[in-house]
Amino acid sequence: MISVTGARKNYGDFVALDDVSLDIPAGSLTALLGPSGSGKSTLLRAIAGLEGLDAGRVVIGDRDVTGVPPRSRGIGFVFQHYAAFKHMTVRDNVAFGLSIRKRPKAEIKRKVDDLLEIVGLDGFQHRYPAQLSGGQRQRMALARALAVDPEVLLLDEPFGALDAKVRADLRQWLRRLHDEVHVTTVLVTHDQEEALDVADRIAVLDKGRIQQVGDPVTLYERPANDFVMSFLGSVA
Ligand code: ATP
Ligand code: MG
Repeated sequence: MISVTGARKNYGDFVALDDVSLDIPAGSLTALLGPSGSGKSTLLRAIAGLEGLDAGRVVIGDRDVTGVPPRSRGIGFVFQHYAAFKHMTVRDNVAFGLSIRKRPKAEIKRKVDDLLEIVGLDGFQHRYPAQLSGGQRQRMALARALAVDPEVLLLDEPFGALDAKVRADLRQWLRRLHDEVHVTTVLVTHDQEEALDVADRIAVLDKGRIQQVGDPVTLYERPANDFVMSFLGSVA
């Protein structure tokens, strides 16, 4: 489980996170959904430790990680525009986190083979990132983030730059991956359809505040306020 309690983040006078408390169940695929500027990335980056908080705490599993640097938090991270190593093949990109941890060669091979198969890139392992489509590149990014067995996978609009068809394919694929690997996953998106389609739980944010948290059906059928209702496009 990830627990965020009383999170506050100010940029000068501007309040980006306003007393945000949120529990993300272990093994869930939780979406942080909200319009541009609502604080989704700020919250995700706070969970990752890439952003310090002005108040509040972050607990991952049974560890209070407030103030702990990102590399020691047991997280995998995928951004919208993923920075792959351009001079490395797909295989070497996926293996990177294991190689720098000096894992045994046989273990690295086994792990990378498994992951490439899971993300459907087994035939692409000797290509370079520039020789992949956008969707393939994001799948490589996910495999790479998962290679080191993170406790938590944080995805910030990972499919944002892709066209609608590829996005839809990738989210089905993310769902299957999640069902297979069960890593606690937090997906930031401003796309209602994406959240409703792929997540077990959705936390709706607006103006740095959590508006409602629940499963997709509950949010859609029983929105807590006008904002959630209009943002999810539901009819009361
Ligand atoms: P988007 O969907 O556009 O990515 P978001 O929900 O991820 O939006 P955040 O990136 O979390 O939004 O930003 C929340 C608010 O905080 C925005 O109004 C943004 O302008 C502001 N903000 C974010 N980072 C900074 C910063 N480094 N300095 C000042 N303001 C910032
Ligand atoms: Mg963002």
